Formats: sequence, structure tokens, C-alpha cells
Amino acid sequence: MEDNIHEWCLLEYLNITTFISPECFYLTNLSPDAKSQLSQKPILQECHLLTSDVNSMGIEKERICLLDPASSDVLVPADAEKFEYFLFGGILGDDPPKDRTNELRQFGFPTRQLGSLQMTTDTALIVTKKIIEDSIVLDQIPFIDFPEIKFDKTESVIMPFRYISIPDMNVSTLQTTNNQLKKHVKPLMPYGMIELLKNEGDMVLEFE
Ligand code: SAM
Repeated sequence: MEDNIHEWCLLEYLNITTFISPECFYLTNLSPDAKSQLSQKPILQECHLLTSDVNSMGIEKERICLLDPASSDVLVPADAEKFEYFLFGGILGDDPPKDRTNELRQFGFPTRQLGSLQMTTDTALIVTKKIIEDSIVLDQIPFIDFPEIKFDKTESVIMPFRYISIPDMNVSTLQTTNNQLKKHVKPLMPYGMIELLKNEGDMVLEFE
């Protein structure tokens, strides 16, 4: 987990609580500052906010699956039998990716990937849930890659991630990078993320 929780990550963690129940959500390796920051959100108070790290939870390593874009194995519904916990890097995405999931990989957990494209942490979790709990195979989940979010006629930002695609009636706001208008779909993003991007612009993006 990052030492300081960026507003971007906070929105992702809040988004996660709309998909899984708080008692299933463990945020580990929190700095004291990060813990107090997260505790300010009532829904996150109901989650497990731990300063200890995943290795000190007393869970057998083989029951923990690290979601890792560099894994050679794709997560499949049958993995629900093998694993009890799913571990995600609490880190901001970067472009190009810096492979910071490596910090967790070195502990030797079994790993699985969700395709080679970088997802946001909340997207990776929701995709994992669809595969493990809803038994949907990765290939059947609709995605939008690198969506361009338009703020107005002149300003837009391209998000260098893969997102789940969801229905949208407002077709004029979204274009993919190859300029093809994708009709009736938009990326599943946390509530408040577009406002954050609009207000903070490049400040929020640590892209090179
Ligand atoms: N740039 C970071 C890196 O290269 O490690 C990506 C971090 S990503 C925003 C946050 C977490 O989501 C990762 O640590 C990983 O657990 C999970 N994740 C993102 N995309 C994934 C993928 N394609 N396959 C498996 N896990 C993924």
C-alpha cells in the first residue's frame, strides 16, 4: 500500500466497497497516516484497516492468489477452489507500468493474471469477482482499453488502462484512441473520478 492514499486510490477503494462487503475487504500494510485518512470514510471504517502486512495475517501462502499482470497463468473460475484470498497491489497505476506489483511477487504467493493490460486496482478486483464468484471467463467480460474521457470540446484525457465496459446513453463523450466512436458503452469508473480528473488535470496523473 502506498504511504499516502491519493484521492484517486481513495475513490477506487470506495468503489470496491460497492462490489464486496466490508468484512471481506482487508487493506494491509497501511502507514498510520494512510489508516487515519481511510478511517475518515464511514464505509471504510467497516473494512479491515491493518498496519500489519499480508504475511503476518497467519494465512497459508498457497491460499492467497496475487493478481499480477506478469503471471503466466490466467485466472479461471476453477481457481475459486484453490484460493481463499485475492491480493492486489494498493498502488497507483503508471504509464508505462513500472511493475511495482513486484513488491508483492517477491513473497512467493501463487499468481494469476487478468490479461497483460494494466487495469486500475478496483477494475482488477471487480474482474476477479466476476471470474471467481460469477464463474465468467475472462474472454467473456467486455472491456474498453485506453478510453478517452472528454471534458469539453477541447479538453480530454486518455486513461492508459483497461476498464470494464458498461452501457451508456451519452454516446458523444467517449472515443477510443483509434478515434472510433464506441456507441452506448463507457468505462466503469469510480463515482467522482471524472470530476477529480477534470479538477486536478495532470496533477492527478503520474504518467510519463
Ligand atoms: N503499474 C503497476 C504495476 O505495474 O504493477 C500496476 C498497478 S495496478 C494499478 C494495481 C494492482 O491491480 C496490481 O498490483 C495488480 O494486483 C492488479 N492488476 C492490474 N492489472 C492487472 C492485470 N492485468 N492482471 C492481474 N492483476 C492486475
